[in-house]
Amino acid sequence: MNDNYQMCTRCVMDSTDPEITFDDEGVCNHCQHFDRVTKKEWFPNEEGARKLRGIIEQIKAGVEGKPYDCILGLSGGADSSYLAYKAHEWGLRPLVVHVDAGWNSELAVANIEAVVKHCNYELHTHVWTGRR
Ligand SMILES: [Zn+2]
Repeated sequence: MNDNYQMCTRCVMDSTDPEITFDDEGVCNHCQHFDRVTKKEWFPNEEGARKLRGIIEQIKAGVEGKPYDCILGLSGGADSSYLAYKAHEWGLRPLVVHVDAGWNSELAVANIEAVVKHCNYELHTHVWTGRR
């Protein structure tokens, strides 16, 4: 660490981030951005749960009798695997699409298989070769 090393007074970010800036209280630009932008759209509480229920009902409305009510990209990574699991829990019927571009890890493939089997999804895999 050099003499100019500084750590945010509020979070773990520090001057090893070449883009970081600090205000007079030592609060980093990431924390400032969170307060200014993200916090207004982030509801980790009952209000967020209520908003989410509304969105789910909106997705389901008007598509009764159709095979799918949404589309879900499944890479096999933690985020899309968890979302696929939650969509099942919420009673959604996603068209599950996976793009195989040739660099799937064994773990990603295992996650895809496990999620698809658990949720009884039909998986649509598109093999992408990079050519049209
Ligand atoms: Zn910070």
